[in-house]
Amino acid sequence: MSTATLTGVCPECETDLTTPPLVEGETIACPECMLTLRVEEVVDGHLSFRMVEVQLRDWGQ
Ligand SMILES: [Zn+2]
Repeated sequence: MSTATLTGVCPECETDLTTPPLVEGETIACPECMLTLRVEEVVDGHLSFRMVEVQLRDWGQ
């Protein structure tokens, strides 16, 4: 048996997310904050996300 959907929480805006089955390394876009999230871990149908660093210009910080 496997669940049809997975759940997780956006690390940025803390929106509850329900997704189709994903595997580690896949990315989705948060529908709320539009951030790109990469699946770090899938445990018992619960996803752990990591924010993907968007390549921005280096302003010399
Ligand atoms: Zn979000």
